[in-house]
Amino acid sequence: MAQLEKGILYGGQSALEAEAARLVCEMVPCAQKLRFGSSGSEAVQMALRLARAATGRRVIIKFAGHYHGWFDNILWSTAPPADAAAPVPGSRGQQQTTEDVVVLEWNLLPELRARLARGDVAAVIMEAAMCNAGAIFPLHGYLEGVREECTRTGTILVFDEVITGFRVAPGGVQQRLGVTPDLATFAKAIANGFPVAAVAGRADLLDLVTQGVVHGGTYNGQAVAMAATVATLRRLRDPKTFELLEARGTRLMQGMQAAFDQARVPAVVAGFPEIFHVAMGLTEKPRNWHDLLGMDKPRYTAFTTALLRHGVRALERGAWFLSTEHDDEVIDATLEAVALALREI
Ligand code: PMP
Repeated sequence: MAQLEKGILYGGQSALEAEAARLVCEMVPCAQKLRFGSSGSEAVQMALRLARAATGRRVIIKFAGHYHGWFDNILWSTAPPADAAAPVPGSRGQQQTTEDVVVLEWNLLPELRARLARGDVAAVIMEAAMCNAGAIFPLHGYLEGVREECTRTGTILVFDEVITGFRVAPGGVQQRLGVTPDLATFAKAIANGFPVAAVAGRADLLDLVTQGVVHGGTYNGQAVAMAATVATLRRLRDPKTFELLEARGTRLMQGMQAAFDQARVPAVVAGFPEIFHVAMGLTEKPRNWHDLLGMDKPRYTAFTTALLRHGVRALERGAWFLSTEHDDEVIDATLEAVALALREI
């Protein structure tokens, strides 16, 4: 509110932007430097451009079920059918060129290793914990293996932390899981709902913006959005914020799994206390997009519809997100609604 009075758009850098950048660089392991933007989709584009410029290569590897924004070059196979033999476009009207994008199954190292060996890959981009579909952890050693292969082949590793950033730990999933990418993208939680995104990472990569790599955006680093970023990150930096989120989210997850078990409805509740997923119809933790195809979607839709009748809105795709404003009372009320909704279905 105070910043609105002082100024909205300066058309240049401000002290606020520097402060926001400093906070990100202190909190996020890979962040030596960064650029701000306005949406996650844009930040992803910048990361890919930097990777191509740095390597002189053109191919981008992404994974089935991972979402990196709505732009033509990356909106491939975000929800492909089981038998997809080629990348599947995500939208009507999308440009149809797929020669620069390769889609692989996530959590499988040999396939990735073989493709990287061809030496033409600029970047591997992934949700390091897969949260657009499911809330799936990398298998033990997978991220470390990907990191090693990317380093060995000179490929830029990009973690898309638009969902996980400032949410599963102050420094994102890279901090929580202990693997540092070359670049990472952020949005959503970084400014608590204001349109802010960032691409952060190795200084030598970010420095390419002074060496012929274009990054435009009228609203990049807009002052009100930067004020929101500073306010948000100061709160998220406080360890108490995460202690509470962890405790409440864990209670909600465990309470929900117990409710499903008690009702004898097969379901797996898995993920982080701050972001988890309910895979109804599965009895084992899913490992990738392919496993998620076994979910009982109609039944889950019946469940979320029943939840609505009891005052809880849950996403039909199975994802649950915790906010700092979900206090113990909200968790109790949610668990009550879950029990009632399960009875109804
Ligand atoms: N990457 C990931 C992992 C996302 O979840 C999203 C948004 N759901 C995006 C990129 C795109 O971000 P935005 O909607 O801000 O363009």
